[in-house]
Amino acid sequence: MTRGGRNQQTVLSALQKAERPMTAYQILETVRDAGISAPLTVYRALERLQQDGQVHRLESLNAYLPCCQSHGCAPHQGRDAPVFVICERCGMAEEIVDAAVGNALRQLSETRGFRVAAVSIEVKGLCASCKNAAG
Ligand SMILES: [Zn+2]
Ligand SMILES: [Zn+2]
Repeated sequence: MTRGGRNQQTVLSALQKAERPMTAYQILETVRDAGISAPLTVYRALERLQQDGQVHRLESLNAYLPCCQSHGCAPHQGRDAPVFVICERCGMAEEIVDAAVGNALRQLSETRGFRVAAVSIEVKGLCASCKNAAG
């Protein structure tokens, strides 16, 4: 495996072990023990992982989480739109893939003459356990 490949693997497994999306800085803190100490190394690895579809970036949090594919769900199809549900209390985030959502948003945009390049949806709220705790 190339050095870059090893770095990607290190960053990906750090994200997989975390139970929350992590910022690049938090990832850097986690991978120091594995010998990665430069922020640029982390950014490069994240960029490649995003290109390969193994990691997603949550725009609103500027944080990263592993694609659900990396825990065994089917690869995204071309028109899928991942939906991220983000808990505002505990910070957990989960990816839901639903082709119907992606198609509906594309159609809506296309009726305005807009050509869609990418769809990403972030939904804020309370996760099931925080909702139960809140009563
Ligand atoms: Zn995904
Ligand atoms: Zn929560």
